[in-house]
Amino acid sequence: MQRSPSRTRDLVVLTISVASLAVTLARAEQGSGQIEVIRGTQKQSISHRSGQTAAAMSESQESAPPELDIETVDIDIDTDRYTIDGNERAEIRREIRKLIGLYDEYLGIRVSPEFDVQLDVLGNRRTYQERQGTPQNTGGFYRQSTGETVVSGDTDRSFTRRTMLHESSHAILADGFPNAPRWLNEGMAEYFEGMELRGGRILIPRQEDRRRFVQGELRGGVRSQLERLLALESQAWNDQAETDFRFSYDQAWSIVYMLMETSRSRETLRQLLEAGSGSSIESIERIYPQGLGGFIRDWERWLSTNGLAHSYY
Ligand SMILES: [Zn+2]
Repeated sequence: MQRSPSRTRDLVVLTISVASLAVTLARAEQGSGQIEVIRGTQKQSISHRSGQTAAAMSESQESAPPELDIETVDIDIDTDRYTIDGNERAEIRREIRKLIGLYDEYLGIRVSPEFDVQLDVLGNRRTYQERQGTPQNTGGFYRQSTGETVVSGDTDRSFTRRTMLHESSHAILADGFPNAPRWLNEGMAEYFEGMELRGGRILIPRQEDRRRFVQGELRGGVRSQLERLLALESQAWNDQAETDFRFSYDQAWSIVYMLMETSRSRETLRQLLEAGSGSSIESIERIYPQGLGGFIRDWERWLSTNGLAHSYY
């Protein structure tokens, strides 16, 4: 795999690997028969951008951010040599709006009034590679310095759809947490790209084969593997060899899936975002109940059991 020699620190490019396509699609077929309904309790337990406590918020309602009207968020989908009919376009917009709503309601991460999503779907591989500017084999990228959200249409259509959600997740997160740790940013994009609209509910299947893969790979070396993952700065993340690249996405996905399960762990997730890039190990030691040891124990337990799919409404 060739390296790009000239990418600078501010050109944060968040990508998704094409190599994981077959795996991703196989996983998408899976789903648990049981469903855990996660309620949107965050409105009470998590404050918004100001960092106020819930108590402080109720005392000063006038400083609370206004309700977000997600329907007014601009979502532009431009295509070049890729065809999306009106229905599919409307569905994709609906999914992205649901995604913005999940971030708001369950994580207290609300996009700014100026926020919009500009998706460019490029059907021609060469045009896409030129736009990306690096030889990496990716299915999409979000460039934080310019806000470009670009998706390759030269993949399976359902993969392209998932990638649109994946890159939109990066765009949403960059709006509030431009300095989010890379592993967490990717884990959240991996988590949310799996969302499926089922009537009025949003289902995120658990992908048990992915969980078992991470469990198998970690056996015996959880702490060192976690330290490796959490220490990956943005450039180092991009520069990983293909096998490590996939494993890192899977690890990050599993941690986010675990942290999305309760309102308390979602609060932890949010605090890790706020702590920013740098030493996530230190952040976990400081933020997580019972520190890094507690985190490792909980992660190992999560990885060793079949669980329930996440359902939001
Ligand atoms: Zn990504």
